Amino acid sequence: RAVDIEADIVVLGAGPGGYTAAFRAADLGKKVVVVERGPALGGVCLNVGCIPSKALLHAAKVLEDADEMTEAGLGFTRPQLDLDKLRRWKSGIVSKLTGGLAALARQRKVIVVTGFGRFVSPNEIEVTHEGATKRVAFTQAIIAAGSEPARLPIAPKHDSRILDSTGALDLQDVPPRLLVVGGGIIGLEMATVYHALGSRVTVVEAMDQLISGADRDIVAPLMKRISTRYDAVHLGTKVRNIASAAAELTVTFEGANAPEEQSFDKILVAVGRVPNSGTLGLAAAGVAVDQRGFIRVDKQMRTNVPHIFAIGDVVGQPMLAHKAVHEGKVAAEVAAGLKAAFDARVIPSVAYTDPEVAWVGLTEAEANANGVAYGKGSFPWEASGRALSQGRSEGLTKVLFDPETHRTLGCGIVGAHAGELIGEMVLAIEMGADAADIAGTIHPHPTLSETIAQSAEMFEGTITDLI
Ligand code: FAD
Repeated sequence: RAVDIEADIVVLGAGPGGYTAAFRAADLGKKVVVVERGPALGGVCLNVGCIPSKALLHAAKVLEDADEMTEAGLGFTRPQLDLDKLRRWKSGIVSKLTGGLAALARQRKVIVVTGFGRFVSPNEIEVTHEGATKRVAFTQAIIAAGSEPARLPIAPKHDSRILDSTGALDLQDVPPRLLVVGGGIIGLEMATVYHALGSRVTVVEAMDQLISGADRDIVAPLMKRISTRYDAVHLGTKVRNIASAAAELTVTFEGANAPEEQSFDKILVAVGRVPNSGTLGLAAAGVAVDQRGFIRVDKQMRTNVPHIFAIGDVVGQPMLAHKAVHEGKVAAEVAAGLKAAFDARVIPSVAYTDPEVAWVGLTEAEANANGVAYGKGSFPWEASGRALSQGRSEGLTKVLFDPETHRTLGCGIVGAHAGELIGEMVLAIEMGADAADIAGTIHPHPTLSETIAQSAEMFEGTITDLI
């Protein structure tokens, strides 16, 4: 078949990894074609992930704050919830961003081909859209096909009451009783939204801790808060069966502390994500995947086929947008002949729950499991003037240091704006800052960021005041 478009670099998928790689490669003078099956650029993150979830979480926070300020003498009438308007507001934010991306692509003369792309040889991708096909020939390719929600094998298929994160973000209604299966970041963020909107929420998590990547003490304030507000949070519990014949969904559970059978109006399944690698025709290009379907890459983001790169969720954990973006830049630069490699020391994680949970680098659990020596400094937010004046003092900042060199190894923060605060610690680790550097840096007062310097002072034994 004849080739329709020739590209120096074809990028398969236009999520954060893909559009970053495409824009960087175009800026470096390459003729770039992006193949995207969805109607808009931006991938999961912009369309059905990071951005719409944060918009709804902001709405949730406003509702919660209004409720909590009654304690400070501020009374509000019950908020009126206009679900259609909320949905439109969220979609407006998404369209603004995806529209911006389309303009940026045009400016750079990046060609966007809409349709489902599949390798048909090591140098050609076939794109199918509404029955028509196009062939794109390329010198190099960057696979950025992302991931999709993992399914719960026992969940009935095609039942509109069983949602994944995309369905939950769609906000069709506010179910009176919502079961969230999976106590990871995505499940808990959506639980936060629906609880604020008025659902009674139950969470089940198979592990013995929510957000299992973070330390237990960092998750504890979140666990404490939601345990009293939600109907229940069941740890060490799995869903055994979902009976869907009746008007409500009846669920049985298993595990040491499994509750009795219960009924729900909707169920959100948030049990992880799987790479979108199975339908890309990777065999035709000779690209290898591991047992879980992740494409194998080296530090230059090259697959086993030297002119084909892969980035983002499709190459493995952590499945985070900022990791995909960073990898996208590396792949584009290597493809354009620059010397580049993925050499980030750490990748931060944030759960935008209420309170937020953020961590980076070494955790105590990891240190203990691997016999890594560490010292720590921590600062409870009950002693932070700023946290107290915001009426939310349940937070904690904890920083781990090398006991000999005092270099920063890791940090966990729980509390309001923890996600904003963690950036400083990412920089500290990247720059090799030690405890004295952090303690000796003047932080503005009164801010939550002071708790970072105070943690370092705690470790150094130089703390003088607790305000
Ligand atoms: P994706 O964003 O998945 O994009 C892949 C693109 O490839 C998609 O547009 C898809 O349509 C396209 N594609 C796939 N196969 C083909 C094909 N064969 N042909 C054509 N196109 C194809 N991460 C964060 O860092 N912060 C957050 O706050 C955050 N919140 C999230 C909330 C939710 C509800 C979810 C689900 C995810 C969240 N994430 C968050 C994760 C984040 O969305 C992903 O890590 C990120 O989108 C991965 O980017 P990517 O470029 O690898 O792939």
